[in-house]
Amino acid sequence: MSNKYKVRAYCSSRVCEYVHKEDVMIAINYETAYSLAQVYNEFESKPSCPSCGEAMAFYAHSVIEEPWLT
Ligand SMILES: [Zn+2]
Repeated sequence: MSNKYKVRAYCSSRVCEYVHKEDVMIAINYETAYSLAQVYNEFESKPSCPSCGEAMAFYAHSVIEEPWLT
């Protein structure tokens, strides 16, 4: 069993729950995913939410592979 570490984008507005469906980046470990998310969050021009227009934010998360599903 192996874990995947991913960076995802979500809306930074508290009243909007938009999360980008596709992963922004897949990383080899959580530290890498976390630091990449921080780099993305420091970009001057962030993508805007297609739902409400607020800036998107990035976060790292891990996905546990479930072998019985593949
Ligand atoms: Zn939004």
